[in-house]
Amino acid sequence: MMNKKHPHLLRAILSGMAAILVFIACQPAPPKEEGEFKDSDLVELIKLDSTFKLDIRYATDNNFVGRPVYTEARAFLQRPAAEALVEVNKALRQMGYGLQIFDGYRPWSVTKTFWDITPDDKKKFVADPAQGSRHNRGCAVDLTLFDLATGKQIEMTGAYDEMSERSYPDYMGGTEEQRKMRDLLRSKMEAHGFSVYAYEWWHFDYQDWQSYRIENIPFSEID
Ligand SMILES: [Zn+2]
Repeated sequence: MMNKKHPHLLRAILSGMAAILVFIACQPAPPKEEGEFKDSDLVELIKLDSTFKLDIRYATDNNFVGRPVYTEARAFLQRPAAEALVEVNKALRQMGYGLQIFDGYRPWSVTKTFWDITPDDKKKFVADPAQGSRHNRGCAVDLTLFDLATGKQIEMTGAYDEMSERSYPDYMGGTEEQRKMRDLLRSKMEAHGFSVYAYEWWHFDYQDWQSYRIENIPFSEID
């Protein structure tokens, strides 16, 4: 019998199987959600409006992680949110500005990565994967303004993904012009069903975010 003749072999097989089971059990998965949800209808923003300027930092190493977490520089939102964003872009165009998009829909696994690498005292700047992010639902967008005439990004009170009080949308520091631009972005977004996150002037949630599930679909699987 194998277990008598080769006890070490049996032990090795059993410990190998145990390791595989532990590996499977530890694979992170999105939280299970109960209730009624709309079907996901993620649309690529530039397919609705080619004048959005894409600046997908998470597809580059110019982000707080320091390495790319997306393999494709694309931005998606659920269709009603995407359509509302087109309206915001139109309203701003008349004033000489356009929307520069940093991020939209974000697969849940990326939210998990952000949480794991962020120190505890900075965790208010990242979503708890146990709750999921509104980005995971395709109903949150990170963005700023750019100048249509020069193509240059407009200066705000703080930088994108900066983990300091300069990121708060009601931060009173910075220059008057920076605050004016930040507040212009916010007012146009609010006029079209978005609300700003209390700790990040660049992050906006669409009004129907509760209607959509947390998703973990990679960009490569979205048409
Ligand atoms: Zn965000």
